[in-house]
Amino acid sequence: MNKFNKMKYKRPDIEKIKINMQNLLNNFKEAENAQEQVKIIDIINKERGHIETMMTLSSTRHSIDTIDEFYDAENEFFDENSPQLQAIEHEFYICLNNSKYKNELKDHYGEHFFNLIEVNLKTFDISIIEDLKEENLLVSKYVKLTSSAQIEFKGEKYNLSQMIPFMESRDRRERKESYEAYTGFFNENESKFDDIYDKLVKVRDRIAKKLGFENFVQLAYFRLNRTDYTSEDVKKYREQVYKDLVPLTTELRKRQEERLGLEKLKYYDEKINFKDGNAKPKGSPEWILENGKIMYKELSKETDEFFQFMNEYNLLDLLAKKGKAPGGYCTFIYDYKAPFIFSNFNGTADDIGVLTHEAGHAFQTYSSRDKAVPEYIFPTLEACEIHSMSMEFFTWPWMKLFFENEELKYKYTHLSDAVLFIPYGVTVDEFQHYVYENPEATPDERKRKWREIEKKYLPHRDYEDNDFLNRGGMWFRQMHIFQVPFYYIDYTLAQICALQFWVRNIENHQKAWENYVKLCKEGGSKSFTDLLKVANLKNPFIEGSVKEIVITVKKWLESVKDGEL
Ligand code: ZN
Repeated sequence: MNKFNKMKYKRPDIEKIKINMQNLLNNFKEAENAQEQVKIIDIINKERGHIETMMTLSSTRHSIDTIDEFYDAENEFFDENSPQLQAIEHEFYICLNNSKYKNELKDHYGEHFFNLIEVNLKTFDISIIEDLKEENLLVSKYVKLTSSAQIEFKGEKYNLSQMIPFMESRDRRERKESYEAYTGFFNENESKFDDIYDKLVKVRDRIAKKLGFENFVQLAYFRLNRTDYTSEDVKKYREQVYKDLVPLTTELRKRQEERLGLEKLKYYDEKINFKDGNAKPKGSPEWILENGKIMYKELSKETDEFFQFMNEYNLLDLLAKKGKAPGGYCTFIYDYKAPFIFSNFNGTADDIGVLTHEAGHAFQTYSSRDKAVPEYIFPTLEACEIHSMSMEFFTWPWMKLFFENEELKYKYTHLSDAVLFIPYGVTVDEFQHYVYENPEATPDERKRKWREIEKKYLPHRDYEDNDFLNRGGMWFRQMHIFQVPFYYIDYTLAQICALQFWVRNIENHQKAWENYVKLCKEGGSKSFTDLLKVANLKNPFIEGSVKEIVITVKKWLESVKDGEL
């Protein structure tokens, strides 16, 4: 196998792919038995995997060096041509769905492949193409508007992400002022954000109705490939969070307030965990990576093999350098059955997050790399995050390597942040259900509703004298609400599952790890709730599952003398 930099890239010939695919699909329709169809499906899947490989190599290399003109052009090529490729895939899905031998094919590839196809087909029809274009344009408009931010602060101009360090400053006054400057941008552009979102809601509602749905909610669930649960299940889950988890988060905020020596914790204090700053890794990015190798070697034979593979084939691009795109992600290079991790190490605890979280994603794809269909490499989004968030916990025993005397400080922050995030995630979700179930609501009604939901799940939150936030404008900054509706609850569902692994790992490491590996090996071959069964995890939709983890988490957090850290 080639190392990453030697993997061969060639721009796919779309016309050739179309003709080839048409021939294959004709043969598929004329096939006289299931075996023949299986042979054709395998050929098509290999071809689809190859196209995906070219797309992945192009986008990954582009993100590693955004100045490189070659991959810049290739990336543009894919942006322009991906709708055509999607149309080809759609054709393939229709043929599969209409196969005379569907039952035999299900036996061969598994039921889930066909369930995925079925929901996918429900989300598209030629009659909505113009509406989809409008939806994409509106999303781009949102991205453009947020990236246009030039916030004046202390005599300089900053974009939104450049403001974050000030908002997490140890100087309280600087935090408040930077928060006001940051939200000031959204306040000044309020009518523009309102307008974009209102149009997005309307177009999505229209698309849903054209496709025969009552409103956008069910369509959004299908877009996210949710084949096995409904908005009713999610509603019950949110109720559990409200009842069983919110009281713990209120206690945690109270402790945070005391720890920081504040009379009252305000919205701009929430990110500050300790007076003298958060735990930091005690060495350079290179040192962190070396310790990462030790950690995965010691954790298990599976992770040792995996991490050696990643290093041997240069599948880790972790250090920040000039021209590199921001952020971090994990992807999968199909032809080589190889995961790839991208990030920008900067010497903070986030680097450890990448090393454990993204490596969790990568370990899962590595474990399920031999799955027969491309759809089975990554599971759906809520399941995907179980692997990554759980790896963050499975690697706890090695945190001493990175944080030395601040190990406990790191763990306390990690676990309490995991819990504190959930009510916010649920707020985002309940808000979106309201919005799309009431598409005629006005922008002001939406904001009022947001504030109402926020008060329910985040009762401690105090916006002080910030009028815009008090009026319910906080969510303008939450890009998921604009870009990928209803994708957000996923993080909270996965976190509940990851916390189950955290509990089990304490009780019986060997057994917990075996279940985790079993889950990773399944990849995306099953739906979320079926994957939970494989891993012996409790379904978060079932009453009592949230409460159960809250009890153990609360006990652990209470055992820590956080005031002394
Ligand atoms: Zn992730």
